[in-house]
Amino acid sequence: MKFKENCIFCKIANKRIPAEIIEETEDFVVIKDINPIAPIHLLIISKSHYDSVLDVECKDGADKSGITADNGDMEGRFGRELFGILTSLAKKFNVEDKGFRTVINTKEDGGQTVNHLHVHFLAGRGFGWPPG
Ligand code: 5GP
Ligand code: ZN
Repeated sequence: MKFKENCIFCKIANKRIPAEIIEETEDFVVIKDINPIAPIHLLIISKSHYDSVLDVECKDGADKSGITADNGDMEGRFGRELFGILTSLAKKFNVEDKGFRTVINTKEDGGQTVNHLHVHFLAGRGFGWPPG
């Protein structure tokens, strides 16, 4: 598990600062976005610090931070939990029928503003395509 000082999402995900936790697994917490752009706007935040999705490397259960050494069996858990959370949130927020959008903004062109891995879960209205 990697913790980066002065990273707001590290602090939230590891409960150094309080936040309403919507859902929690071994590797993730889900919170409400502070500046929602949809009726339902949640952030799925990894507990371990990754600057972006590009830093996550799940080969044989390992990642660059050596999380396997600390956590034992990481094999497939990261991805399994992330996909599991999507279904769980869809049920919890009653959007299984209407659907939702997930977004991982990455670096400059992706519009990433917080450099700690997070997935946006957006629902409660329709979203255009292509995105702006
Ligand atoms: P990004 O632009 O990196 O894809 O998304 C960052 C998101 O984090 C933004 O939607 C922003 O509103 C949200 N955010 C930034 N700081 C905080 C915070 O301290 N608490 C919460 N709940 N959301 C935050
Ligand atoms: Zn962080």
